[in-house]
Amino acid sequence: MRPLVAHVDLSALRHNYALARREAGDRPAFAVVKANAYGHGVRAVVEALDEADGFAVACLEEALEVRRCRPQARILVLQGVFGSEDWQHAAQLGLDVAVQGREQLESLLACQVVQPLRLWLKLDSGMHRLGFDLAALREAHARLQGAAQVAELNLFSHFACADLPEHPLNRQQLDAFTALDDLSFTQRSLANSAAIFACRAAHRDWLRPGIMLYGASPFVERPAATLGLQPVMHLQGALIGVREVAAGESVGYGASWVAAQPTRIGTLSCGYADGYPRSAPPGTPVLVAGRRVPLVGRVSMDMLTVDLSAVPEAQVGTPVELWGRTLPVDEVASACGTIGYELLSKLAARVPRHYHG
Ligand SMILES: *Cc1c(COP(=O)(O)O)cnc(C)c1O
Repeated sequence: MRPLVAHVDLSALRHNYALARREAGDRPAFAVVKANAYGHGVRAVVEALDEADGFAVACLEEALEVRRCRPQARILVLQGVFGSEDWQHAAQLGLDVAVQGREQLESLLACQVVQPLRLWLKLDSGMHRLGFDLAALREAHARLQGAAQVAELNLFSHFACADLPEHPLNRQQLDAFTALDDLSFTQRSLANSAAIFACRAAHRDWLRPGIMLYGASPFVERPAATLGLQPVMHLQGALIGVREVAAGESVGYGASWVAAQPTRIGTLSCGYADGYPRSAPPGTPVLVAGRRVPLVGRVSMDMLTVDLSAVPEAQVGTPVELWGRTLPVDEVASACGTIGYELLSKLAARVPRHYHG
């Protein structure tokens, strides 16, 4: 087998879930496992989190997969469902479902579901992506209260800038959410990972930690380790080629990188078809034999190349970490102009996941 494996540390995952709850006064938490558990493998993650109070996913397709492993758990569908067949299906599966727009509300009320559902009305508190504004939400609440389709009526909303705790939109969104405190809801949920750490007033009844479960930071400026998080994914490989290139020679597609001096180049079996971003610029850090070396040349579909000058003893077979325990995914993401969320969730299906702990 080629040397490229994503090692997934399930005990770190459990540590991070426990930390999420502890940071917020031990409130119940939907572990957010959308997008294949941010690339970690949803089945293994859901099975490992046997203590979780519930799970949250983006869509019905993902909920189905979680339901298969967890016949009893609460599973919240964050984008809601689309049409009467979906409502029926969600009722059969006993899901918690978001209602984020007028069409979803109407299609539910036009439907006779096999059993009433736990609903989560979504407030558009300022992100302006999904949800009802304050007036429309009151109206939706009035129509759903007591309706035959409703087992439980809950409220949720989502922050646009929780990763920047000083941003004024956070206060605005919190105020909008609080402005509905006079309505009767069974429970309320507002906090994602960033708000769990940075906004006590947002904790309310249910937490929705995502990225922090996987040990990456929800903040631009606070490294995950300083938050007490443990990285869960360790993307590891080994050099599959080593060569000397002379000054003036280029490396990789487009001959875009040219050696300024004689340089030892290492080649790794990891490319953009594995989920490593093609946009990674020269200088993006890669760990070879425990030392940071710069990526050079363009990332290709199945390979990338690094400058081995700092590791003269490196040879074919020398271990490499793309991100993980020693090289935080957030650092690689930042070098690539993106966030840890994207690197983790885009890790391709062809990269084997090995589970530990
Ligand atoms: C993805 C998502 C979350 C989790 O966000 P993190 O920043 O990963 O903690 C919470 N709520 C909603 C609605 C989401 O879409």
